[in-house]
Parts: sequence; structure tokens; C-alpha cells
Amino acid sequence: MDQNLLITGISQLLTLRGSSARRGAALSKLGIVKDGAVLVRDGRIAAVGTRRTVEACSESKKAEKLDIGGRVAFPGFVDSHTHLIHAASRAEEYELKIRGASYEEIARKGGGILNSVKKLRAATKDALQQRARAALEAFVSHGTTTIEAKSGYGLDAASELNILTLQKEIREQQPIDIVSTFLGAHVVPEEFRGKADGAELYTTIVMEKMLPEVAAQDLAEFCDVFCDRGAFTRQQAKRILTEGKRHGLLPRLHAEQLSRTRATQLGVELGAASCDHLEQINSSDITALAGSQTAATLLPGCDFHLGLKNYAPARKLIDAGAIVALATDYNPGTSPTVSMPMILSLACTQLRMTPAEAIAAATINGAYALRREKNVGSIEVDKQADLTVFEVEDYREIPYYFGENRCWMTLKRGEIIYMQD
Ligand SMILES: [Zn+2]
Repeated sequence: MDQNLLITGISQLLTLRGSSARRGAALSKLGIVKDGAVLVRDGRIAAVGTRRTVEACSESKKAEKLDIGGRVAFPGFVDSHTHLIHAASRAEEYELKIRGASYEEIARKGGGILNSVKKLRAATKDALQQRARAALEAFVSHGTTTIEAKSGYGLDAASELNILTLQKEIREQQPIDIVSTFLGAHVVPEEFRGKADGAELYTTIVMEKMLPEVAAQDLAEFCDVFCDRGAFTRQQAKRILTEGKRHGLLPRLHAEQLSRTRATQLGVELGAASCDHLEQINSSDITALAGSQTAATLLPGCDFHLGLKNYAPARKLIDAGAIVALATDYNPGTSPTVSMPMILSLACTQLRMTPAEAIAAATINGAYALRREKNVGSIEVDKQADLTVFEVEDYREIPYYFGENRCWMTLKRGEIIYMQD
């Protein structure tokens, strides 16, 4: 952008200033400016503050003007856990779950993740791309400007590399930032399940065949493992993540969702960027997270969609001082939503987080979980001008109105990429 942009008419501007991960009481500090303004230059924030101070900048005089009419503006959501690329919904399983089958029973019968693997391997690249692009448009229309995206529905070298390559291509085609994670160790694929030591064999393939290729082609920044009952053991996760680190991929973990495997403590030992899920953690896991730099990423969409009432202990994590982040876990099996506002509503009513805590967890702490906190997640000078505007009078109304989309406008690098009709 060569023309500067001056945004005014912001009744509440939630700056989230501070550029660092939030813990404890700091999680509710939104850095609110009333009657705020933001000046954007070359896609980055050049000035931020009250309308009076920002309008006084000499550059503001000749800037293009955008008055958002007294709405609330804040940093675009950073959704730090998604499974963006998949071939189809699993609505047929949704009905089985409602009738009483558990997620694990469905998985044992070849449903669940393996069902998505079958569908992905059979899908064309065009179909996958179309579905992902449509989802990205929906993310933007709900105020999200950066997402993490994992592979993990391929589970063979070619399919996993195809997913990550597609993510790289899509990143160039549309405005949202996509941060890639290699999740070759999502579950053990069908073809290894009949064999003795099948899980060990597949673990070796992930380490010796997939990881070197992912690193050589620069296809991912992070390496993730689903360490749980029915997926990978703590020992296998440790081997994979250690090897990932050797290839320059930072670890993150699906930890303690279905059972307590001590994956969280492993994540902390390995310096993982985040441990995600955490429904089954105990007090020693909470202490470990609180004393670490590892983000505790909570995904309440899963429990909601599965009809469980076993949400992660958000209050205990926050009160102990852990870095709590929120994400959608957008995926076809357990959390088919792109809506961060809905996740905020769940965080407030089910996790007992305050609206301010939920917003910080979904912006600056999400950015931290992706190691992007210096660039996105708050509205501060020199950061990327990623903002979203909601049709509300008070920021607490963002989670308060649930099941409808109040996002009015989204800007990425200072460009309007979504505007409500
Ligand atoms: Zn996940």
C-alpha cells in the first residue's frame, strides 16, 4: 500500500499492547483506548492512540480516511490450532455420537481420523484446495487474520507432503497468514495397524522418511504429535519431537485430551511452543505449564461438539500463571468451526474465563503460541496492521452474542479483506 490509512470512529480500541505472552492478572489487560485511532503505513501500524493524538500526526493529514462508526476494533484473531486441509465433513459420525457412540469407539471401527485419511487420499488437489479456500474466507469473515494449519490426514509420505505443499501454495494465493505444522504422527495409519510393532514401524517412517523431506523442502515450522490413548505413546512422541527439533522444527503437542499420558510434562521438558487440549491434566501438569514458556492452548469447541462436559481447567491454569491461549481446532471430527467468536463464548460460559481474558488468549497469546507475538496479536507501532471490527458497543458483547456473527470488517496488513454486506 502506498497510501496511508487513518482509521477513526473506534469507540473501544483494544490494543493488547505489550507484545508479550500474558499470564495471570495480565491476561485481562486489554489496553483499551476510548475514541481510538490507528494510522497504517505500508501495511504496518505507524501510530495508535486516541483520535486526537493520532490525527495530530503530520502523516494523518494526507492519509486515506476510514471511519468505522463507533464500533469496537481489536487485533485480528490468531487461531493457533487448526486442521485446515481435509476432504469432507464427518456428519455421519456426528449422528452416531449423538446416539451414544464415543469418539474412541467410532475410531476403533475405522471411523474418526482414519475416515478422514481415507477421504483425503481419494480427494483431488483441486477439491482440497477449494474446501480450504472456502474455509479461509469463513475464517476472515469471523475476524481471524492468522492461522496455524496442520497436516495429519495423509499419514503416508506423499500425502503428508502434498498437504503441506498445498498449504504453502494457498498461503501465496490469499491474505491470511498460514503457519504450517507437520503432524505425520496424528494416528497410526490403517496399513500399519495389523502388524506387530506397527506403531513403532510407522514412528520410524515419520522420523526417517517424512521429517527430513519436510525440513529439506521447508514445508513446516512446527512438528506436532497426538500423544494419547489410541494414538502415540509418550516415548514415541519424544523420539519424533526430538528428531523434529534436530531438523529445526519446534515441537508442539496434542496433550491429555482423552487420557493423562504425561504428554504435557514431556512438552515442557522439550520446550514445546504449546501443549494443546489439556482436558485431563492434573495439578502437577498445571504447575509445570505455569513454570514454563510453553503455551497452554485450550480448544473448548471439541468438548462442545462431542457433547462432553470435561472442559480443561482454564481457571486453575490462569490462576497458576500459565500462558493460556484459545483456538478453534477447526477439524471435521471434533470441532467443525472456524468461529473464534463462538470459541470465546464457550471460553466464557464453560471455561469461566472473563471476556477480556478470552480475547487476550485468542489474540496475543495465540500469536505467542505460534512465535508471532512480535509481529501480530496486538495493535502497536511497527506491527502488522491486522485488525478486526465488530458490530458491538462494548467488547464484552463479542462473546456475549453467541451463534451469530458480529464481525463487521477485517483488515490484513492494512487492506480490507472482509466487509459485512
Ligand atoms: Zn487438533
